[in-house]
Amino acid sequence: MLGRGSTIGILGGGQLGRMMAMSAAQLGYHTIGYAPEGDNVSGPVNDDFITATWDDSEALASFAGRCDVVTWEFENVPVNTARAIPADKIFPGPLALETAQDRLTEKRFIEGLGGRPAAYTKVDSSLDLVAAVDRMGAPGILKTRRDGYDGKGQWRMGSSRDADALRFPDVPCVYEGFVEFEAEFSVILVRGQDGEIRFWDSTRNVHEGGILAASHYPAGDKVTDQVAPARELARKVADALNYVGVLTLEFFATHEGPIFNEMAPRVHNSGHWTIEGAATSQFENHIRAVAGLPLGDTRTTASSVEMRNIIGSEIDGAHALLKDNAAHLHDYGKAEASEGRKMGHVTRLFLDTRG
Ligand code: AMP
Repeated sequence: MLGRGSTIGILGGGQLGRMMAMSAAQLGYHTIGYAPEGDNVSGPVNDDFITATWDDSEALASFAGRCDVVTWEFENVPVNTARAIPADKIFPGPLALETAQDRLTEKRFIEGLGGRPAAYTKVDSSLDLVAAVDRMGAPGILKTRRDGYDGKGQWRMGSSRDADALRFPDVPCVYEGFVEFEAEFSVILVRGQDGEIRFWDSTRNVHEGGILAASHYPAGDKVTDQVAPARELARKVADALNYVGVLTLEFFATHEGPIFNEMAPRVHNSGHWTIEGAATSQFENHIRAVAGLPLGDTRTTASSVEMRNIIGSEIDGAHALLKDNAAHLHDYGKAEASEGRKMGHVTRLFLDTRG
């Protein structure tokens, strides 16, 4: 167990790190962030922030030396950066990053545990893509194996003509069959250092243009009926990786049961509602897990919850959202409200007071 006043290092400087640092402070810990130059919005809430490249071995050694444990808030932290931290100090272990950073490795790993991803094939060239679309059919989605997020690095293929016309991204990709889903949902769990696992309720997640727009609880029958097998897979993933911290798996709910979409070895946007809507938030439980503290109750405390992302210029005037008595606003403090950028979120809680 990390004693009070200990220091937690957080690789990455985004909003997830910002919310993690706030939870760490509540529990009596200091935080040091580490990320390359950029709009590192966790900076102002960390005790200290190191701005250095991911491969700056001197800066990394000094960061690791000052921290009692290290975690990350960004899943594209290079695996070598995570491996530069002493293995007994970093939670989750770098294997989780390595597995989740490559869509092909991730899908094979999931299949190995009995999970079912969407139909996919590895494509490394324009010719491969045309052959994949011919064989698997359309519609489908070409995705870069690495570095994609919020719909970036993805191209929808409506027909083989689209495959012919596309300028191939020249990085390793996968072509995925389009899943006719009834709903999308996520399973978020926390696993402690002793292997104990707790799940939050699953929300129904609505995406617009590849970006999460909203999460809803209760998630509805189409999702709720599929949560048990999805949790079973998530548990296997967490155990196989000897995972410590919060882990997220995203699924499509279909007529044939849950289809695995992707995993995030970190706290997740679809879990932001837990700050106000659950007894213990994903951020607090992540910090508890990496610090070796007992895990907190993950139960939902409201009868219904809605989390909506605030994207781009919607952040201007967002304080007006607080006229709604049910609303809680989170502004990430980002300097530039560019199109498609997640600037904040608002969670609305509905409390059933009849009981
Ligand atoms: P991803 O970044 O892979 O999670 O994709 C972002 C969003 O695009 C997903 O949440 C879905 O709404 C949509 N999407 C991605 N892959 C597929 C697929 N194979 N079939 C249908 N929709 C998809």
